[in-house]
Amino acid sequence: MQRTLVLLKPDAVRRGLVGAILSRFEQRGLRIVALEQRVIDGAQADRHYAEHVERDFYPPLRDFVTSGPLVALVLEGDSAIEVVRGINGATDGRKAAPGTIRGDLSLSNRENLVHGSDSPESAEREIAIWFPGL
Ligand code: ATP
Repeated sequence: MQRTLVLLKPDAVRRGLVGAILSRFEQRGLRIVALEQRVIDGAQADRHYAEHVERDFYPPLRDFVTSGPLVALVLEGDSAIEVVRGINGATDGRKAAPGTIRGDLSLSNRENLVHGSDSPESAEREIAIWFPGL
């Protein structure tokens, strides 16, 4: 059994896609362990995206993820990290395969609706940031 940290980014909340996206994870058999809607500040964004803070694309990404409520959750299941990244699809919505969240619902490289931890180490780090004590 594995856990992963998922974000439904502000575009998902603004577009009213929270229920539809959660359904995809639940229908696949993943279990919601924790879930909370939050508005985050820049410091929280910097902690989450520590590996990207120096990148050219980071300032607009920071503005985007702090632009309104997002939903943070922890999902649990067999191979949850890889399964969630498969359900999410490729980073750039324009290139993501049909049938994935991004491939069906996004046309953007930045406003791509979801985040999923990319490794067991990232999942542990991110779960500690978003849900300390879990
Ligand atoms: P996530 O980590 O959100 O699941 P990912 O692992 O597919 O996405 P990363 O390369 O870790 O993608 O980038 C993190 C986030 O930064 C992306 O989800 C996207 O919102 C944004 N991003 C990445 N590359 C670009 C880019 N070239 N231009 C704009 N935004 C980008």
